[in-house]
Amino acid sequence: MTRDTRNAKLATQTVWAGEEQSLLQGATQVPIAQSVAFGYQDLDDWQQVALGQKQGHIYSRNTNPTVAALEEKVRALEGAEAATSTASGMAAISNTIFSLVRPGNRIVTVKDTYGGANQLFREFLPQINVAACLCNTTDFSAIEAEIAKGCKLLYLETPTNPTLKVIDIERLAHKGHEAGAVVVTDSTFATPVNQHPLQLGSDLVVHSASKYLGGHADALGGIVCGSQELIRSIFHYREITGAALDPFAAYLLLRGLKTLALRVERQNASAMKIAHFLEAQPSVEQVFYPGLASHPQHEIAKRQMPGGFGGMLSFALRGGYEQVRKFLPQLRFVHRAANLGAVETIVGPPATTSHVEVSAADRAAMGIPEALVRYSVGIEDADDLIADLGQALASASA
Ligand code: PLP
Repeated sequence: MTRDTRNAKLATQTVWAGEEQSLLQGATQVPIAQSVAFGYQDLDDWQQVALGQKQGHIYSRNTNPTVAALEEKVRALEGAEAATSTASGMAAISNTIFSLVRPGNRIVTVKDTYGGANQLFREFLPQINVAACLCNTTDFSAIEAEIAKGCKLLYLETPTNPTLKVIDIERLAHKGHEAGAVVVTDSTFATPVNQHPLQLGSDLVVHSASKYLGGHADALGGIVCGSQELIRSIFHYREITGAALDPFAAYLLLRGLKTLALRVERQNASAMKIAHFLEAQPSVEQVFYPGLASHPQHEIAKRQMPGGFGGMLSFALRGGYEQVRKFLPQLRFVHRAANLGAVETIVGPPATTSHVEVSAADRAAMGIPEALVRYSVGIEDADDLIADLGQALASASA
């Protein structure tokens, strides 16, 4: 009996979607097809598969059964027509952009995109005569005005890193389409549990699968979902430029994805509890979390993140960077690392991780306080994390 997950709820899809095609001799798990190529006895079969007239695989830079299972699972979770994967989140972003733009095109985006995307806009795209206009992230009227001047691509990311700004996807996607733009949203922080950019009008949604989708910080990967037509051209660009996802990484991501809903639901709930706790601490100057009523785009977040506000938050300590230096070593249940979205809680100050290459003045201009701590909530017990934060804040202030 075929297992149709189309009408199943997300938690059921995380477990079952995409797996059926790849099961081997009764195995209950998708096998790792760790093979560069696939051989054929029959020359006609081989040719038909190569020409796409028959299902099958030829060469793993193009397609691979384990990788295809991953793509199908995430496609189902995003409710997209099609999906294609890449070797990392940055490969998903760069392949998407480079497959769509041509010299002379213009991109409208925001200042607060992930550092790697930001460097594409500032450094690499101008080299091929593609101008990117980096707007103030939450000045939606100004973004709309830039879109109206004409653009090939509108590139959004929400919530943003590290100050958790929320962008109104529906509003800007509408304006983007009026201008004839393709609308792309990086939804890495939100995950398909919390937000569905395609339903809000985005044409494509990209993820760094290295974060929440995999969830265990043991595999790099990226994925982009959207219409058959757009995904076909991104897939073609990726198969030729070569940033294919490795089958073993696809297997790890598939395994991680089975618990996505469980993990993210826990992380949503814990992050909310922790944000409230931090907001009440005198040693904390400001808390950035879209679930707080004090968050400037809380109303938009409530509308466009029906699943929850995510497991990422950040907070600024009173006393500047020196206070961060005292506080971070005191935390017990954390990795101090430049990563996020894993089962373990991870902390890092943007001033030494994601925004280390940005000057202190530029960080200030971007609204990133020097004493900011980014906190990726893991799946530990929320009360333990709160107690840990409490003792670390007390020792740092002593
Ligand atoms: N998008 C966001 C929002 C990210 O946080 C990251 C990485 O931190 C990326 C994209 C890039 O992903 P990767 O490290 O898998 O290339």
